[in-house]
Amino acid sequence: MTAVTVDPFQISFHPKLGVVIFDRLAQLSLPAEQVRLFKIDTMSATTFRRDIVYKDMTACGDELLRKHRVVLNTYRTARPSGKKAYCEHCRRHFGSVDFAVCSDCSAIRCTCGACSCATRKRKTAGVLKKVA
Ligand SMILES: [Zn+2]
Ligand SMILES: [Zn+2]
Repeated sequence: MTAVTVDPFQISFHPKLGVVIFDRLAQLSLPAEQVRLFKIDTMSATTFRRDIVYKDMTACGDELLRKHRVVLNTYRTARPSGKKAYCEHCRRHFGSVDFAVCSDCSAIRCTCGACSCATRKRKTAGVLKKVA
């Protein structure tokens, strides 16, 4: 547990949204006035107006970082990178969709509903449609 590791993303705190992650990778195909933030509370990303959301944004204190250590680690692990940044199902880049992280398999879940356990379920037990 060292604090030396520098994350490739920024963790901030917003009074209404809670702890949010700004990931450069998730800003693909977004207009300059918008920003996509990953909310720890819901484990999903949402697109916001940059000027509005950054007005109330503050740095995420150590206490919050400790409190959310487990979910932040989940994001770190699930974070799309390299060739895994595409949805296996619909081939969309995760940087261009409001993706979520599945609480079951701790992998990225695309807006089409696919994540690694959904893909597995489809293969083994037929189609399992889950309404997000
Ligand atoms: Zn997809
Ligand atoms: Zn899953």
